[in-house]
Amino acid sequence: EFPITIRSLSEAIGRPAKTLMTMMFQRGEPLTINASLDEETAIELSMECGVDLEVRHERDIELELVEKLTGGDGDVEGETIRPTIVTILGHVDHGKTTLLDALRSANVADGEAGGITQHIAAYQVEHEGQKITFVDTPGHAAFGEMRARGANVTDIVVLVVAADDGVMPQTKEAISHAKAAGVPIIVAMNKIDLQGVDEQRVLQELSTNNVLPAEWGGDYEVIRTSATTRQGLDELLHTIVLTAELHEYKGNPNVPAHGVCLEAFRDEGRGVLAWLIVQQGTLRIGDDVLCGPAYGRIRAMYDDHGNELEEAPPSTPIKVSGLDVVPGAGDHFFAMADIDEAREAAESRRQRGRAESLAGRGLPRTLEDILNQ
Ligand code: GDP
Ligand code: MG
Repeated sequence: EFPITIRSLSEAIGRPAKTLMTMMFQRGEPLTINASLDEETAIELSMECGVDLEVRHERDIELELVEKLTGGDGDVEGETIRPTIVTILGHVDHGKTTLLDALRSANVADGEAGGITQHIAAYQVEHEGQKITFVDTPGHAAFGEMRARGANVTDIVVLVVAADDGVMPQTKEAISHAKAAGVPIIVAMNKIDLQGVDEQRVLQELSTNNVLPAEWGGDYEVIRTSATTRQGLDELLHTIVLTAELHEYKGNPNVPAHGVCLEAFRDEGRGVLAWLIVQQGTLRIGDDVLCGPAYGRIRAMYDDHGNELEEAPPSTPIKVSGLDVVPGAGDHFFAMADIDEAREAAESRRQRGRAESLAGRGLPRTLEDILNQ
């Protein structure tokens, strides 16, 4: 299961196998060149040789950090209910964008700068006194990718299924993503305004794809919606609120902020702009952050209406400026102790990135490489 041997370690760290065998001998554990080593021993040996192996994925280190910061679940002091984070998934042309816009337009004051024409990566609405954050994930690939990177921010998936088209390949993909992520699904049977749609057929197709509708005794609410006539939107929001109340999604505003970058780009005037979603803690203007390969001090922060913010508690989507380079979608961000710490972490990441691309497909450079061979 753990395929590292004296030989492969020797190759990886550029020290003679004989030296490593001698070291093991001195530990009272003589080994042959092809004997396997456990991870801990491999790290110790390489440390003794003066080689600091980057053993774990960046992601694992980050997840560990996240774990530490959140303190697992349960009674972390200061934990409070946070807004639910919802992602809308579904087959192309089933109405995801129209639905997102319709849900937001009710919350956008007429004449607001940009209105809903300006692209936003996420926004917040209020319904029945509860805030809901909608994330506009650009497609399933991004959702799957983000989940694979442990950067899944979604609490609830709204699965859009066009009533006139039914369950299609990307619908199935979305179902499997949501189920793999262990996230509740609410179905929006959309385009219900169209003439002659066969609701029973759609319910049947959902059933055969393991999404048994509540009206048929299953666990999944199927809300009839029309993103164009706005039919069912209140009911959809109500169902989201109920689901959120059931799960009691919590966040702690009192820990150092961390979360995920949804997307980022370079703006002519303002430099790097990044859409972040805060998962835990409170991000404030002036915080020093590390975000993927980027670092910087948060200079400005805007909500989804373009209003300037001073601070952002859990589940808040924000657009920030101040990072030095453009991070990637799905990169975690962390508020660091100070700018030096942020810079050092970012620089070592970049260096490692360079080393990795220089190494190409050549000799393994790290234990990680060996493990992946
Ligand atoms: P997406 O690919 O899932 O984001 O789908 P879009 O939101 O771009 O919608 C695809 C097409 O369906 C557009 O022409 C929309 O105007 C239309 N559409 C979306 N929702 C509805 C709806 O509820 N009823 C009807 N009749 N058309 C809709
Ligand atoms: Mg779309």
